[in-house]
Amino acid sequence: MTDTVPMTDEMRELLHSEAVSITADLVSIDSTNTGDPATTGDGETRVCRRIAEYLDEVGIPSELVESVPGRGSLFARVDGSDPAAGGLVVHGHVDVVPAVAEDWSVPPFAGEIHDGWLYGRGTVDMKNMIGMMLAVVRHYRREGIVPRRPLLLAFFADEEAAGTMGARWVVRERPDIFDGMTHALSEVGGWSVPVAGRRLYPIAVAEKGVAWARVSAKGAAAHASRPTSDNAVAAIAG
Ligand SMILES: [Zn+2]
Repeated sequence: MTDTVPMTDEMRELLHSEAVSITADLVSIDSTNTGDPATTGDGETRVCRRIAEYLDEVGIPSELVESVPGRGSLFARVDGSDPAAGGLVVHGHVDVVPAVAEDWSVPPFAGEIHDGWLYGRGTVDMKNMIGMMLAVVRHYRREGIVPRRPLLLAFFADEEAAGTMGARWVVRERPDIFDGMTHALSEVGGWSVPVAGRRLYPIAVAEKGVAWARVSAKGAAAHASRPTSDNAVAAIAG
């Protein structure tokens, strides 16, 4: 039992190629969430079933749960080596926002690669992370790697429209799925922001909070159609 193995070039190449090919495969399954249950199809469940196949291939069982038929979320546990360690939820969402094919230079649901770039709806939000999650756990299984914490791989429906039929439904109806889990990681992050000449990697610890502030600035009274050089709003924005 180990939580690490030396990374060889072959392993790195396979991880990379699987992350890309799985992402492309999932992009090719149209899982558009229109935000309207009446017009949202069964793409989420079809993506979940495909993810389950990738997990099955390395012996990881998974459970599909559906808030309504077609609106599926998928869950799979990977055992950890430390029974006392809190579990880590690594989660992604299987739905994507709509894409109008005429607006695209490539088919949005084909997962085509051009000049080394993968194109399609969901490539960055967020079938890419699902592809990486699957590539990593498949690597774990091939190499006999056991993480210290138990993992819950979660793939949710309906993230793009408030999660009512995905995360919210699962938390209400199947809280047992999260037994033993203490932390969670998902999309957004990994880029840096230059601050005072240093490279800062932000870590989000909360989202969409409210912070009230009273700010005042003085400037000449004017109208939006006639910019002035001493605009109070611009002073505050700056
Ligand atoms: Zn997203």
